[in-house]
Formats: sequence, C-alpha cells, structure tokens
Amino acid sequence: MSRRVRTSGSALKRTVERAPIRTHCPYCAFQCGLLVTAADRGVNIVGDPEFPVNAGALCLKGFTAGETLAHPERLSAPLVRNAAGRLVEADWSAATEKVASALRLVQRKYGRDAVGVFGGGSLTNEKVYLLGKFARAVLRTANIDYNGRFCMSSGAAAGLRAFGIDRGLPFPVADIAGADVVLLVGANIAETMPPLMQYFEAQRRGGGQLIVIDPRRTITAQHAALHLRLIPGTDATLAHGLLHVLIHERLIDEGYIRERTEGFEAVRAHAATYWPERVERLTGVAQRDIVHAARLLGTASNAIILTARGAEQQTLGTVNALSYINLALAMGRVGRPFNGYGCLTGQGNGQGGREHGQKADQLPGYRRLDDAAARERIATLWGVAPEDLPGPGRSAYELLDALGRDDGVRGLLIMGSNPVVSAPHATHVEQRLAALDFLVVADFFLSETARLADVVLPSAQWAEEDGTMTNLEGRVIRRRRVIEPPPGVRTDLQILNGLARALGAEHGFPSSPAGAFNELRRATAGAPADYSGITAARIDRESGVFWPCASTAKPGTPRLFAERFHTPSGRARFHRVQTFGGGERPDADYPFYLTTGRVLAQYQSGTQTRRITALRRAARVAEAEIHPRAAQRAGLADGGDVTIETRRGRASFRVKTTAAIREDTIFVPFHWPDDHSANRLTNPALDPISRMPEFKVCAARIAAAPKHQP
Ligand code: SF4
Repeated sequence: MSRRVRTSGSALKRTVERAPIRTHCPYCAFQCGLLVTAADRGVNIVGDPEFPVNAGALCLKGFTAGETLAHPERLSAPLVRNAAGRLVEADWSAATEKVASALRLVQRKYGRDAVGVFGGGSLTNEKVYLLGKFARAVLRTANIDYNGRFCMSSGAAAGLRAFGIDRGLPFPVADIAGADVVLLVGANIAETMPPLMQYFEAQRRGGGQLIVIDPRRTITAQHAALHLRLIPGTDATLAHGLLHVLIHERLIDEGYIRERTEGFEAVRAHAATYWPERVERLTGVAQRDIVHAARLLGTASNAIILTARGAEQQTLGTVNALSYINLALAMGRVGRPFNGYGCLTGQGNGQGGREHGQKADQLPGYRRLDDAAARERIATLWGVAPEDLPGPGRSAYELLDALGRDDGVRGLLIMGSNPVVSAPHATHVEQRLAALDFLVVADFFLSETARLADVVLPSAQWAEEDGTMTNLEGRVIRRRRVIEPPPGVRTDLQILNGLARALGAEHGFPSSPAGAFNELRRATAGAPADYSGITAARIDRESGVFWPCASTAKPGTPRLFAERFHTPSGRARFHRVQTFGGGERPDADYPFYLTTGRVLAQYQSGTQTRRITALRRAARVAEAEIHPRAAQRAGLADGGDVTIETRRGRASFRVKTTAAIREDTIFVPFHWPDDHSANRLTNPALDPISRMPEFKVCAARIAAAPKHQP
C-alpha cells in the first residue's frame, strides 16, 4: 500500500514517566548530562548538576535538543520510491523486504562487496557493534566505514602509532583545571563545547596559562595568554619549532625519554633544522612567540597539549598530531596526572563509534581486522568461520567516491549520517549517491542524503531509546529512554534486527540495547577497548565507567599510561615525520586559504539543528569570515554576499568581516546544504595514513554574489 508522505505532527502523548530522567545530550562528544522530563508537548531539559563532566552546564544546543522530538517534519513511516520516482509511504514489512531483495540482487549481480554500509559517529555503542556485525556476518561485505573517518581518524591513527592505543583523552577532563599550561591546537571549544570552558576558567583562576594555535582569533583564542596565529596547514612545522626551542634550552626530560620512550634521537636531529627564524618564515608565527610558548610549556610543572580538527583534518593530519605528541613526550608529560597529550573528540559517540567495528579495518573492541587471533575470536562469537569474515574495506571517502562504479559499491545502507552535506567535494558525492543501483537511509528526518534514497527507514531519536555512549574521556555512559518513539518509528536496533532476519539471519541481532551491550561486552573482553567489566548498574553508580575495564570487580581506568604504554615494548614511540607537502595551497588563480569549521548554534550537517527555532534564529545563514582588507579589495561589504569558488565548485555565503582572521584566509561553517554548502568547496585529498580528507585547507577565490537566500 502506498500513501502520501506523512510526518509525525507535533502532539506528543508518548510519555514513559514524568519524573526527570538522567540521560545525555544528543550532540557533541562532551556528552553533557541532562535531566529530561517528559511533558505533554515534548520534553523539558535542564543540565544534570550531578554528572561530573558538565556539572549542570549546557550550551544552547543541549537546552533546545527536545524540539526535534515532536518536529512536524519528523518521518513516521517508511518511504519507498515508486515507479514515478516519488517517495511514498509503505509499511515496515514491505519496506524491509524491498531493502533485503534489492541488496540480495546487487550482491548476486556484482558480488558481496558491491553492497556497502556507511555508519555514523553519533550512533550508540550497541548500534555501532551490530552495524559492523550486520555488514561482516550477514552481508559479508568488506565495505563498511563511517563519517567519523572525517572527524577522528588522524588523532586516532597518531595515538595508535605513538601509544599503541587510541583513547582521545587518556585522562579525565578535570585534569585540565590542574595544568599550569594548556596548549590547544586547532580547537575552538568556546563555540563547539562551551561547557568544557569551565575547566579552562578554573585553570586560569588557579594561575594557569592557555596557549592557542589557530589561524583565527576565535572566542577561545581570546581567552588565551598567547595566541599563535599560524598559516593554515603549518601545524607540524610549528610543533617542530617549539621542540627545537625546548631542546636548545634544555627544557626536555632526558630521563623520561630514556626510560619510557623510543625513537627520540631521530626526532632530535630533525628538530635541529627548525630554528625559530625559519619557523617564523614558514608558519607566520613570530619567533618571540614561538620561544615564549616553548618556555611556558617547558618550565610548567604540569602541562597538557590538546589537538582537534583544525590540526587533524588535513592531509598532514596524522603527522600534525604525531608532532604534538613528540612535544608532549619530549617534556616527559604523558602518563602523569594533570599532564599529557589528548585529542578532543568531536561527534557525540566519536570515541565509542571508532571502537566497535564500523571502521573499514576494525573489529569490536579496537581489534584489528587483519589480526588472525582477533578474527578467530569474533568469528566464533558470531558463529561464522574466520575465513568468512571479509578483510579491510575502503575508507569513507574512497567508498563514497567509487559508488555506482564497476568496481565500487552499487547498493548502500546509510545509518546516522548525511554525507551529501558532511563529505568533502559534496557535489561529487551527491552524484555518486545518485549513481547507485540502490540506496537505503535510516534517519528521522528527510535529510539531504535521505532525499536521494530508494527506501527511507524512520528511526527513533536520542530521548526515545536506551543505549551507551562513550564520551571524549573514554567514559562509558548511559543514554536513557524518556518517551516512546512515535507510532510507526523503529529504533536502529529494531531496523537492523528486521533487515538481518529478512536476509536470513534469524538470530544474533538483539533489538534490545541491553542484549546488544551484553554481547558487545563479550566481544571486547581482552581487547584494547575492553568493556567486559562495565555494567549498567556500575555506570549509574560511578557516573560512567572509563575503559579499559576488564572485570566487574575492578575499577575502570580514568588515566592511561601511568606505568607503561600499549606498545610491545611498553614504551611510547617518537615519530620523525615529514612536515611539508599536503594538498592544495593558494596560487594566482585561487589566492586564499579556505578553512571550515563549526559555529556555536549549529551541529555537523545541521539535520537536527537547522530545524530548531532558537538555533535557526541564532545562526540563520552561513557566514564567511573575511578580513576587512581582503573584503575591501574584493569589493565586498559586511553583511553583503560572497561567492567562494574552489577547484571543486562554488557556494555563496553572507560576508562577515573580521580582523580576527588572517588576511590570507577565509573561514566558512559546514552546517548548510545546497548553494551554501562549504563542502562543495573542500578538497577530498586524503591523509595517506588515516584517510582523513583535507577539510581544513584548500585554495579559494572570492567575488561579490547575488543576494544570499537562507
Ligand atoms: Fe554539551 Fe555538546 Fe550538548 Fe552543548 S552540544 S550541551 S556542549 S554535549
């Protein structure tokens, strides 16, 4: 039966309980604790003062997150594209059968790997685990990856190489308040994670200093004692300059280097060539500031270095992160309380999302897909033969780039992602999605990607489901159901259960989060990201449990590396890296650096936040930040409109002139679609190690544009 598209309407009578329920924000990796109370027309939200990470503080996005639950555009029935090319409503059994038969047909025609799965960094741990199992044990395809490849992969790759394990912050965020100096590289937390600023404010009140490295004088940089406004793409060079000064002024910890690390001598020799005058020429940062920053870091009793997407979303992303790890190791900081190196995870479950098997090269618990013992263990748990588990598949952009091609994926399941807005070279990605034989998308709104689908499966939202998430500290926390999903909507676990059954897997896909988590615990026992000792009761009692946690009788691990690193030798590894190269740089045709990022009132591809009234008011249009002199030369006025063009395409933005940005650089946010899509401009060149696209640096030109339509 097919009917017209219907949405859920605004009235909500889906209350589970009217007492406040402890849960967490649906957006970023800070995962603020919320107290959410069901109400007649939605939910009421306040910050949870007892959750120790945010201590009651929220940003505007958290306070307003309830509006999406009863949003009039909410999907409330599966949609199937009919013979006339229109998406029309269908019942669940027809939609599920359509998906199963289409995926079977694609695999019969083109082989198993012709079906792909694309996941997301906001999915719960349970969903991530079962999505990976669905791809490898049911579809038996190698091609599964996820949008976290666009977010965390460079920091993760660097952590694995240097420390043998990747946990974004190997210490609790509270350690920040106890550091004398914090070096923040490519992170604008005052806008992206405002409640995290409370730790920096406490650090400052205690006499601590903040150093920010960023091409823009962001709100975060305005809080800093020292702002190093580098040329985009020169992060590693600057790190080497800082290391040069530390070595020259004997501010490194030779004892620590000798006892706890390996590979320093090659790095020492390499850093000798990064004297401050040269680094000033290469990075645009004044020598005196380089020396000042190095002395602040080197003489501090406690110092923390944090990197984020500014440094990591580059073709040199892994190199950049490794360069700052070198710095932290040389000072002997890593593994001591109130010291160390950390990478600030971005997406809501960016940490758990990269641990449990939706990455192209990975099995649950951060096991490697090319490790025979790991394959054996997981295959046994899943009831398949180890040789039937596929090998590593294509990384996210490579998978998207090859969609619809002879050797690429021809049928795709997308869950929790909107790559038409969030992937680099977005116009090309949209074309590749349109070239698929079959596309199925699970989402709660008809996102820009869902609009292209052959089948759309309406899924439950954050306050309508239980599950676990892992925050940026590696703290496993509980997401709780506050209200029932609207009639006609299923949770992602129910969707996977239905698809698995339709494809012949009668068992092994629990639709209950508790059942999925228990299996995940077994799958991760003995693995690097070991969750086997974590239970719901412990999470409640302990305000979250830090992995690794190998026994219900033992505590979790808030701080890693106190005695040894997770490398075979137990020592951390220095890396001598090449700091030059990278993707596209400005030239005569495209004279500006273009860099992208987030703004306070929007989140990722904007599927949720662009639908929230207060957030739309706060950030109505996509604004391009341009230095006043650059704007004047181009004939652009503040509040006017600009067309930005790169070798990939063009898009238009509202002009915001600001001296906070370098004269050679333009910043655009990436939350908007279509003609205002920053990712129509970005460069899909990949980091050769992490396969991270270069979102943060490309070459662009500007011109006045016709009036900007929000
Ligand atoms: Fe907290 Fe992030 Fe949610 Fe803001 S978006 S309330 S910082 S979890």
